Amino acid sequence: VVSIHGLRKSFEDLHVLNGIDLTVHKGENVVVLGRSGSGKSVLIKIIAGLLKPDLGTIAVLGEDIDQLDEEELKRLRLKIGFSFQSSALYDSMTVQENLEFPLIRNKPELSKQQVNEAIEQVLEDVGLLHTIYQMPDELSGGQKKRIGIARMLILNPEIILYDEPTGGLDPITCVEINHLINKVRQQYNTSSIIITHDMTCAKTTGDRVIMLSDGIFLKDGPFEEVFASTDERISAFYNYNFI
Ligand code: ATP
Ligand code: MG
Repeated sequence: VVSIHGLRKSFEDLHVLNGIDLTVHKGENVVVLGRSGSGKSVLIKIIAGLLKPDLGTIAVLGEDIDQLDEEELKRLRLKIGFSFQSSALYDSMTVQENLEFPLIRNKPELSKQQVNEAIEQVLEDVGLLHTIYQMPDELSGGQKKRIGIARMLILNPEIILYDEPTGGLDPITCVEINHLINKVRQQYNTSSIIITHDMTCAKTTGDRVIMLSDGIFLKDGPFEEVFASTDERISAFYNYNFI
């Protein structure tokens, strides 16, 4: 569902991505690891069509995003769920309104009843139906992440890009979010790219993990295989997680 060849991206003279090749197959969950500033968020923003690459081909759901006009790109983006590093909820809207807004905007043909049913369904899926009339600032960090996930699910995405879904959460809430990611994958039949610093998340949600460093992928493979590497940049990443 994602096929990237020779991707390069710089900001002025800062070379962030220096030749990335990545294939994500249908139904696969791929975890991307790498230090802060290594370009993980830039990578998924390019996949979501939110940033333009300098060089390389990027095919998403069989479409070369470079060849698409604004309308086509918009249509493709609807099939891509983007879970932002911050949950990016609208602070002045209730949970219900936060979910209703993208749905009405993108599927104006739905009846009021269909909209309400869809909202209840996604809230139930993320386990937060009881928060429907609450405001975002009345929710915990973990709950906000779940509502952020519900807000993408409501559009039935084929691909989900998670930017640090467990960032800033306690270990138990992290595990709960990991479960949710796996549940979503089964229930919604999605393919995902998951950016994380959390080894438990990498291990439990990824079919494969990729280590991004110095603008390239150092390693791409199953969790155990990647972390069996003797490359210090990889082993340090693992070891520092458990001291
Ligand atoms: P973190 O784990 O801290 O979220 P990251 O791997 O996601 O880090 P990116 O956000 O992808 O890092 O940023 C990679 C580099 O690109 C950083 O040095 C950042 O300052 C730079 N960068 C990202 N977006 C822009 C932009 N729009 N303009 C200029 N520089 C940018
Ligand atoms: Mg980031």
